[in-house]
Amino acid sequence: MEFIDLKQQYRRVQDQVEQRVLRAMRSGQYIMGDEVFTLERRLADFAGVKHCICCSNGTDALSIALMALGIGEGDAVFVPSFTFFATAEVAALRGATPVFVDIDPDTYNIDAADLRRKIDRATQAGGLTPRAVIPVDLFGLPADYDAVEAVAQEYGLFVVEDAAQGFGGVYHGKRGGSFGACAAASFFPAKPLGCYGDGGAVFTDDDALAETMRSIRVHGKGSGKYDNVRIGLNARLDTVQAAVLHCKLDIFEDEIVSRHRIAQMYTRMLRDVVITPKVPQGCESVYAQYTIRLKDHQTREHVMRELKARGIPSFVYYPKPMHLQSAFRSYGCQAGECPVSELASDTVLSLPMHPYLTEEETAFIAQAVRRAVLDA
Ligand SMILES: *Cc1c(COP(=O)(O)O)cnc(C)c1O
Repeated sequence: MEFIDLKQQYRRVQDQVEQRVLRAMRSGQYIMGDEVFTLERRLADFAGVKHCICCSNGTDALSIALMALGIGEGDAVFVPSFTFFATAEVAALRGATPVFVDIDPDTYNIDAADLRRKIDRATQAGGLTPRAVIPVDLFGLPADYDAVEAVAQEYGLFVVEDAAQGFGGVYHGKRGGSFGACAAASFFPAKPLGCYGDGGAVFTDDDALAETMRSIRVHGKGSGKYDNVRIGLNARLDTVQAAVLHCKLDIFEDEIVSRHRIAQMYTRMLRDVVITPKVPQGCESVYAQYTIRLKDHQTREHVMRELKARGIPSFVYYPKPMHLQSAFRSYGCQAGECPVSELASDTVLSLPMHPYLTEEETAFIAQAVRRAVLDA
């Protein structure tokens, strides 16, 4: 059994992908060919925003966003501590200071009340200028944008959505990828919408910001390739990856329906023995991960071992919160600063999740979890 079965998905789209990739190869436009621009239109429509700028990966998408917003030295960038490293890494890479914010124990997303506390502390003790917050749509569930945007507005912060896992999620009628000044998505193969290599995109409704981000994507280009008006990146998307994404986007809505069905089945079978994902009213998760929480660390380790013995893969996303990463030691973070993130790292477990899990497989996994928990 696979944790995310990309080979099974490939069999479904194989004919379309192979034809389209071959056409891209034969076109001779290997980087930023027409397929990229038609894909940008489709992705922008899907997210419900004006502009989509495709790029090399999700991390570069976040970097492009921070660069376009002019974030750098002396600035504080607020990020949830419970996330993938890249969310905080990009702030540090720009010379800004990542400030770690705790999460909500129900949704695992950034806690707006703690955001307010961390802004006050960074301003008073840290002497930093609060400039941006990067809420993450963790495990596919959009962050609480009403709450985050209220705080951001009060303190004059830019909101940059990290939609690497949340593209395909919904928050009060708006789709993941449509929040904040701009949003970053990743098309890494294992994400809900993935290509066959690295890929990413930034989204925005702001014409001027879109223009700046398009420039940053290609070495800060101005009117032409050899007119450079700012420092940028080489962060373009390959035509072949755009061709793949066109085919994957064709089946994405249908796959989201399957993800919901599988998640509902897991939840029905597990909610009396473990903490199952909570999706607030008016929201939809795209279930980039289906993540349960056990009552303590030993139970989590026991469940993982029992699943492994039955040939069921499971993973811990994420075993170490950002404020405890040695790469960020120089920012002076300490254990106890984000207690909910620490608890989550100790007790969460992600189960196999992809649109091609059968009902039998889902039931088999859920039964194995039940048995492991009940005899722990
Ligand atoms: C995957 C991921 C990224 C980075 O995306 P890449 O395409 O791998 O660079 C950033 N943030 C989060 C939350 C992610 O899950």
